[in-house]
Amino acid sequence: MNDLRNIRVERRDDGIAVVVFDKPGSSANTFDRRTLEELDAVLATLESDASCRGVVFTSAKDAIFIAGADLMELSGLDAEGIRDIGRFGQQVFGRVARLSVPTAAAIHGACLGGGFELSLACDWRVASDDKATRIGLPECQLGIIPAWGGSTRLPRLVGLPKALDAILGAKIMPAKKARRIGAVDAVVPREYVVREATRRLGSGRPQRKAHRLVNNRLAAAVIRRSAARTLRRKTGGHYPAFFRALDVVTKSVSSSLDRSLERELEALCELTATDVCRNLVRIFFLQERAKRYQVPGTPELPEGHAERRVAVVGAGVMGAGIAQWCAARGLDVILKDIGPEPLARGMKTIAELVRVLEKRRKVSQVEARQILDRIRPTDRDVPLRYVDVVVEAAIERMDIKQAIFRDLAARSGERTVLATNTSALSISEIARATDRPQAVVGIHFFNPVAKMQLVEVVRAEDTGPETLARAVRFVQQIGKLPVVVRDSPGFVVNRVLAPYLVEAGRLFAEGVEVEAIDRAMKAFGMPMGPLRLIDEVGGDVAGHVARYQAQHFPERIEIPPVLEKLVEQGLLGRKTGAGFYVYPAKGRPTPNPKARELAGASRGPALPRETLQRRMALAMVNEAARCLEERLVEAPEDIDFAMIMGTGFAPFRGGPLRYADSLGAREVVRRLEELAAAHGARFAPSELLAEMARDNRTFYEDERPGTASDAA
Ligand code: NAD
Repeated sequence: MNDLRNIRVERRDDGIAVVVFDKPGSSANTFDRRTLEELDAVLATLESDASCRGVVFTSAKDAIFIAGADLMELSGLDAEGIRDIGRFGQQVFGRVARLSVPTAAAIHGACLGGGFELSLACDWRVASDDKATRIGLPECQLGIIPAWGGSTRLPRLVGLPKALDAILGAKIMPAKKARRIGAVDAVVPREYVVREATRRLGSGRPQRKAHRLVNNRLAAAVIRRSAARTLRRKTGGHYPAFFRALDVVTKSVSSSLDRSLERELEALCELTATDVCRNLVRIFFLQERAKRYQVPGTPELPEGHAERRVAVVGAGVMGAGIAQWCAARGLDVILKDIGPEPLARGMKTIAELVRVLEKRRKVSQVEARQILDRIRPTDRDVPLRYVDVVVEAAIERMDIKQAIFRDLAARSGERTVLATNTSALSISEIARATDRPQAVVGIHFFNPVAKMQLVEVVRAEDTGPETLARAVRFVQQIGKLPVVVRDSPGFVVNRVLAPYLVEAGRLFAEGVEVEAIDRAMKAFGMPMGPLRLIDEVGGDVAGHVARYQAQHFPERIEIPPVLEKLVEQGLLGRKTGAGFYVYPAKGRPTPNPKARELAGASRGPALPRETLQRRMALAMVNEAARCLEERLVEAPEDIDFAMIMGTGFAPFRGGPLRYADSLGAREVVRRLEELAAAHGARFAPSELLAEMARDNRTFYEDERPGTASDAA
């Protein structure tokens, strides 16, 4: 290949060839077929070049070494194509490993998946100490395994336990952590990575200690069994990639390199053919899309547009979290509340959040100080003219929010975006209280702010296009993932969640055991059971959302009295020490007998898990279909994305609508009708579902109906 496009080779006088990855017109390098072919061609030239004394692989990008395989290209390949690219990658990296001269990877920026696998094929790895440098093999998260040599070479380099930890944990490590586990040899400032890599070449090939566990079949088998148990517990057996990775990595240590690479390839081909992998890769694409999403029909914001000053109104749970998050992203924050006491509480929460960041070494002591210094608490009506975005997170009452917005509209500048973090109240109604309704928008964060990546950006009736565009960009600027939804009770996430949580409450009221309900939905793939979720969120908060939904959709949401009684008795869940469960200071929560007593019903007969799953999961599917029917979002993927990111809805199922497609609309409708006949009209299929069943249609065009193997 004569025309190199994504790679260039710099030959130096000392005989070192520096191979620089630099894909034109992109801030990232990835391994697509073309780049692999270019690398292959470069290696062929270097192999026959007697003057070459060593090779350094590096990148010209600001924050990326090589981000991994080009997933877009991979996801377009058929089974043969996957096998082909898998084998080709292995061959090219094998060629790197077999070069007769020493090799080193000079890593600055993200070095993930295939990028890390290239560096594992080198003799030396030198990484920059910059924050941008993150190293790891996250393939299992995408439903595949490292198959360009990563599952084979990493255990040989760092030993079996550490390799399993990195691969099964899909861990992305800062350079120092990678150094600690032995995955890189040196960590130096960014400007010295190439120099240090070159220096290492001077000492030839490293003599590495053989790991005691390598070649020890017995130890590998013991580790395999115990890791499989942990995996089954953690994944419910829904994510086959972890088990295949475990198998390949543990067998790798007692196999030849070639045999192990062959196993990697087999696993890759097998896994890429699964729905689980397809769904996980789709989620990855949806996340990438959210990072760059621009609402159609809104003005293009100038390049480099960024908000600088934020005011947060209300220093409670959410306000404190939002203020801290924005300050940590470099924004100046005014934090407003009604008096010194709530402000002091808010600042204490913020200080605690920052302390945790410092303890986990996410920020230095100086940075921690700077975050706190950027927040200005006040209980006065300070001028807001130069504030770019206001996020209101005061208490959930329409009269109070309207009064706050009237005041904000009068005191802020004409370009200030006025956002509310309300969970459910009508944003159009809040906006109508002001004389600038076009500036009002919903920016709905989830609790806890620091952990939840999703933010619903809510378009009210009068929200102006520029306000909407800036709200979306603001969410992206602070590193969260926006989903744009139309103003309606509960928006999308709480709207779909409410019937599910209420159905769980009803099952409990009918006498089903709390643990049976929660176990059923964990087995379905939810990160925690619904009653446990109510306890974690707080029965009062969940009750508030549910009541609001019940007001608007009384035909579907009928709250069982036990939910109200728990709140009346102060059994709000974890924060009060008891709810559906009792939370001891130490140890696991146990079912709360008081909750059973309040339900009035004695323990009923045990229902099959599938029956429980059907009632709860289909309640979500039906409501999700209604959200689409009412055009609260542009497309089905918005709902699926919101539910996965906002509630942890079983990612391997691809979201409630993908899940519905996997069952087929006809089957969903049949099951809903069956449930409606047995339990009431709340299960009546939505119009859209009924219509889709009639026409045998799917929510997604690329989906074949009714392919699910494990259905609720
Ligand atoms: P909170 O009760 O913890 O805090 C509310 C704060 O607002 C209090 O500090 C209160 O003193 C202050 N406040 C009251 N009136 C005010 C006024 N006129 N001006 C300034 N401050 C005022 O409530 P929270 O849980 O942080 O919720 C805040 C908002 O965020 C609500 O609209 C809620 O629906 C929404 N929300 C909550 C959650 C959650 O899980 N808690 C999640 C998403 C959204």
